[in-house]
Order: sequence, then structure tokens, then C-alpha cells
Amino acid sequence: MNKETKTKIVATIGPASSSKAVLKELIERGMNICRINFSHGDYEAVKKILKNIRQLNKELGTFIGVLADLQGPKLRIGEVKNGHVELIPGTTVTITTKPCISDDKCIYITYPQFPKDVSKGENVLIADGKITLRVTGTDRNTSVKAEVVYGGTLESRKGVNLPNTKISLPCLTPKDIRDLEFALDNNIEWIGLSFVRSVTDVVDLKERIKKLKSNAKVVAKIEKPEAIEEIDNIIDMADAVMVARGDLGVELEAERVPLIQKMLVRKCIEASRPVIIATQMMESMLNSSSPTRAEVNDVSNAVLDGADAVMLSEETSVGQYPVRTVEYMHRIIKNIEENEQGIYHREHQPMLQNQTFISDSICYNACVMARQAGVKAIASMTNSGYTAFKLSSHRPKANIYIFTDNRFLLTALSLVWGVHGFYYNKYQSTDQTISDLKKFLQKAGLIVPGDFVINIASTPIMERGRTNMLKLSQVV
Ligand code: PGA
Ligand code: MN
Repeated sequence: MNKETKTKIVATIGPASSSKAVLKELIERGMNICRINFSHGDYEAVKKILKNIRQLNKELGTFIGVLADLQGPKLRIGEVKNGHVELIPGTTVTITTKPCISDDKCIYITYPQFPKDVSKGENVLIADGKITLRVTGTDRNTSVKAEVVYGGTLESRKGVNLPNTKISLPCLTPKDIRDLEFALDNNIEWIGLSFVRSVTDVVDLKERIKKLKSNAKVVAKIEKPEAIEEIDNIIDMADAVMVARGDLGVELEAERVPLIQKMLVRKCIEASRPVIIATQMMESMLNSSSPTRAEVNDVSNAVLDGADAVMLSEETSVGQYPVRTVEYMHRIIKNIEENEQGIYHREHQPMLQNQTFISDSICYNACVMARQAGVKAIASMTNSGYTAFKLSSHRPKANIYIFTDNRFLLTALSLVWGVHGFYYNKYQSTDQTISDLKKFLQKAGLIVPGDFVINIASTPIMERGRTNMLKLSQVV
């Protein structure tokens, strides 16, 4: 059994962490979800990772899920001469769409529309904004001239952001569509959609997933200013949201990100959509065995905001200390969860006009009652996962135990705040189920005599309908 916190840990898997031995340690130290970044890596490597995770789930009795992160319309430069060159402020460079090895005079960009999309005066940011170029002219065909404003070391395949430019690429590139098919063929639970600009991007991906007969859920990555304008609709349509601070902090002013993070977490909790805080959370641990004070504060603050999950990127995919990083992150989360009551009990009232009012009301009242009575556990069966998302969104202090016979859903729920999933496949009667679940939890040592427990369920059980009843009882 891995060490469970309510706030979940997403760890990006790469060369530093793809072996079964390291993955096992990551699970044991508190990782809940593996993220596979489809910007890198080949299918054979991904298949090996998936095989390892699924074997470990069987061996350890865990339900670690996978997030396939599609690259989206990410712009990049190509290979750089000798791997890196210095760009000197004040010098002029040519940015070309014709493939070449880049140097300090000429830089190849992997985006054919670039000379048509940019205009004089716009900024070209490279490597998360470490290098800034300003466009001085474009031939609107293959070549753009730019001045180096802030120089630095240019390295191969770094990302390019154009914060002032409307990019004419679709959200799903041909590569993304291939990667999506691969991910769905391999039963991956969560699909990350990068650079969402409009709610239609999310709708398009969801329709593709449905056509391919998959139940995979969508994480909308918020990393463009355009997405902020339509945020309510995007949250509504997505199954989860990522505050993708890496690109977001380059696409708009980085100082705006902290308040956007808080706004997104608040909206997502109210809408019962899991929200992940991503990028640079423990970045110094790429090469250091302990995080900076600022990073410890950042992770703590994300937990305090109420995020469902905090994410590690290069720290675990290529860093020197993947296991130690997850262990440290787990410690930070645990400290807040044990010592700060303010993160719990964020109940929000159900809406009478919603079709889902009955189950919404049961979940809401279960959480209110749990708070009043100091309930230890809320147990429920679910077919769709709806109850799990709903209960979690009220952030009860009581543990949420979700039972289902849907293994795909169980692993998907590993992203959701406070949810612990278990496999259960009996559908005889509501009475039987309630008693089974209680016995199970007692045997596992998760509840003890004297504890209050809430069961919520759908009756009659055979209909597998929505949650419509609540029972409060005491363990004897
Ligand atoms: P990325 O997304 O790591 O795929 O770029 C996260 C971010 O931009 O923060
Ligand atoms: Mn990004």
C-alpha cells in the first residue's frame, strides 16, 4: 500500500524513472499518477512504462493511473550547432522555416506559418522566456529578422512562445492525433490537451475519444491567455484542468500566474473538476538532493489553495533524484494536510435546477453531516465516477472510499483529491453492499469501533442508477 495523501502527486516518467524498480519506489513514496509527455519518447519506450505500471498495480494492489500529455501546437527550434551557442544582446538573427543546423546567426523554427503569423515588434521567447528576440521584419514566406533583446545560451529543440501572436495551428496536430490513437489503444485513462485556446478544442478532442470508443478523460491544460477568457466553458467541458504554469508564465506576465492559479482552483472545486498545479514545483531537485525554501512554499501553497494534484516534470523524468523528489513532495503535502484545517470543508450547495440534483444533494449533505459528526469515512459505490468527483469537490476531512467494478475508472480516480478506490463487483442488494463495504474497511484497519461512517448508494442497486440514499452508522 502506498502512502496516501489527499492531495495527489503526478510524476512525469522518463529515462530517470521508467524502470520497474524506480517506478515501484515512486509508488511507494506517494506517486498517484504517471504522466507521459508525448513531446518526447517513442512508442516502444511508452509501452514498456505502461507494462511496468500495470504489473506494479497488480503486485502492489495499487491503482496508479496514466496521463498521456499530447504536445499540441508547441513551437520549437531545431538542432543547434554543437548542442548550444551564445546569443549576444543587440545582434541580429534570422529565423528560418527551412531546415538547417542553428547557430548564432540563423535559427531554424519548426513552424512553417511563422513568417506569415508574426509582425514587426512582436516578441519571440525561447526556452521558457530565458531568451527574448524582437521581430524587426518578415518576408512573409520563409524568413524573419529579429534582434536579440535578452541573450543567453541557445540549446537544441527548446520551446518557442509567441505571446503577442495569434498562431494559426490547430490544437490537435497530426502528431497529436497519432499519439491520441496510440494512447487510447493502450487504455490510458487521462489525455492532456496542450495550449487549449477555446472550448471547441476540448469538444473536438472529446468527440474524437468517443468515436474511438474510449472512456478516457480530458485534462485541459491552461497555458494560453485566450483560454482564460473562456475559462468557465472550458472547465465545464473538460474532465480536469491543469494550471500549466511553464507556458502560461511565458504567454502572459509571470506575475499574473499566482492569482490565476487561485482563481482556477476555486472555479474547479466549485465545478467538481480536478485541478493539477504543474511545472517548476521542485525544479532545483533536478540536480539537488533537497528543494529550495521557495519550492517548499510553492508546493505547500498549492495544497493550501486546494489543488487536487501537484505535478513533477523534469524532476522525475530526467532528474538525478526522482524518488527523493516524490518523497519530499509527499512530506510537504502531509505537513499541510495534518496541520492546517482550512483546506477542508469547502462545501458548495447543490443547484435545484440541475438534472443531477438528487445525487448532488446526497453528496453535499454527506459532506455536511460528515463535518458535523466528525465522520471517519464516506463509502460509496460508483459506476460512472460521478459520486467520487462530487464528494471530493466538497473536500471533506472524512476519507472517501470509492468501490467499483470498473478498473479503468479506478485508475482514473487516482487523480482526484482524497479519493481512495477499491475493486468491488457484487450487486445483490443495497443492504449487502453497505455491510460488505464496512466490513472491508474495518478489516483493512481504515475504520475502528466507535467511528461514524456514511454510506451513500443507489437503490435499487440492480438499476445501477445515480446515488439517491444516505446512511449514517457507527462501527461496532
Ligand atoms: P508542458 O506543460 O510541460 O507540456 O509544457 C506544462 C506547462 O506548460 O507548465
Ligand atoms: Mn506547456
